Amino acid sequence: MPSTANLTDDYGRRVEYLRLSVTDRCNFRCIYCMSENMTFLSRRENLSIKELYGISKVFVELGITKIRLTGGEPLVRSGILSLISSLSQLRGLEELTLTTNGALLKKLAKPLKDAGITRINISLDTLQRPKFRKLSRTGELDQVLDGIEAVQLANFKNTKINAVILAGYNDDEICDLADFAIERDFNISYIEEMPLGSITSHKRKFTELSSTVIRKKLEARYKLTDTNFRTGGPSRYVSLENSKTKIGFISPISQNFCSSCNRVRLTSDGQLLSCLGNTASTDLKTIIRKHPKNLGVLKSALKTAIKNKPERHHFNLNRTDIVRFMNATGG
Ligand code: SAM
Ligand code: SF4
Repeated sequence: MPSTANLTDDYGRRVEYLRLSVTDRCNFRCIYCMSENMTFLSRRENLSIKELYGISKVFVELGITKIRLTGGEPLVRSGILSLISSLSQLRGLEELTLTTNGALLKKLAKPLKDAGITRINISLDTLQRPKFRKLSRTGELDQVLDGIEAVQLANFKNTKINAVILAGYNDDEICDLADFAIERDFNISYIEEMPLGSITSHKRKFTELSSTVIRKKLEARYKLTDTNFRTGGPSRYVSLENSKTKIGFISPISQNFCSSCNRVRLTSDGQLLSCLGNTASTDLKTIIRKHPKNLGVLKSALKTAIKNKPERHHFNLNRTDIVRFMNATGG
């Protein structure tokens, strides 16, 4: 029987939202997310589909109402559709959403809808082919655009574009990306780059662009109004005159949002991260493999980890304190 009372931390924040990373692998190598040469986890190191389901079920029993599937690229994980079908049947789970780079959506949008995904976020940082290649290293813009069309055809609602904005790379496209979202009645969030994992493609302190600057660029073209609209994530939204589109700002660097954080992350190798910007983790994989029949041990570890959720992150763009890359964290 789902409960809503169990997952509260020492700062009184109720945790209701799990970001579930189903793989650390990806068909892209985005410059802000990964280094060019990555070593990925082995199959055995990752949780199996059965284990991902088993742990998620316990989360939902303890009061999680929203799960977002992420990675790495969740759509490269084999068995993803069967995992989604089983998760979507969990009593107490109100939303099952997905964050994807979009490259495989042309084939998978409809099956994802049929399996039970309720909403999709698609990462799209540029509408220019050569720049797309430069930012993603291995991706093709047209594949993603085809995927976005498939999402529209499959009749998904409240689709969102996520764009990480890097000064000198794609800050000239802030309004073009908004137009792209507006034309399709999508929402869009602009994300400040976080210092996760050590990269060599650029120095983050030079590409940093705050949400305040992004908002100013948008205000030159649109009339923006602050709203209380929320989707359970960290975006702060504004609305636009004569448009259904909401524009969100995810500002982990310029505007700390930890006091209202309602999320935890499970990495694909079963490490529970109660905060994206801290190194503390709880090894749920070892627990579930050691005590597959005694879920009480898992429940108790999970509650303790959430109770001890750190108060806040302390990101510093001059340093990479968190060596874990975003693909291994579960974005
Ligand atoms: N592969 C999927 C995708 O790209 O949407 C899901 C995983 S990805 C890690 C999730 C989100 O994290 C994406 O929107 C991506 O742009 C964002 N991201 C990756 N590295 C980041 C970083 N260093 N700072 C801020 N956002 C980042
Ligand atoms: Fe892959 Fe997503 Fe990271 Fe890009 S942001 S490398 S698509 S996991």
